[in-house]
Amino acid sequence: MAEAQPKVCVICKQDCSARPHVKDKQGRYACRACIEKQQAKAAAKAPPQPQSGGADPVMAKLVEGSVAVQSTPCPQCSSPIPPGGVVCVQCGFNTETGKSMRTRVTVEEPEKKKGKKG
Ligand SMILES: [Zn+2]
Ligand SMILES: [Zn+2]
Repeated sequence: MAEAQPKVCVICKQDCSARPHVKDKQGRYACRACIEKQQAKAAAKAPPQPQSGGADPVMAKLVEGSVAVQSTPCPQCSSPIPPGGVVCVQCGFNTETGKSMRTRVTVEEPEKKKGKKG
């Protein structure tokens, strides 16, 4: 019983005897096109080295070493400023402008409903 071995491409699972194909070490067949495609894919998959651009190494070290995960220490009084916060609630230092606000920090008071006197 001689069994005809169809040259089935291991990649696209199609008979590739009629087209350019290659036989690998395991005796499996694959279309040339499929091999090339796979190689291209593998090359594209390899991630580029995350080296250039982005965070400063110094900054990264600071972030790594800091206990508080997201909060930034106030440059003036070094009390933690919560993520998203710009103004230090302790001393009123504005990290965005770099200036200390002497006036009271305006905290969530969008509208004060004042009853009309009368
Ligand atoms: Zn194929
Ligand atoms: Zn502060």
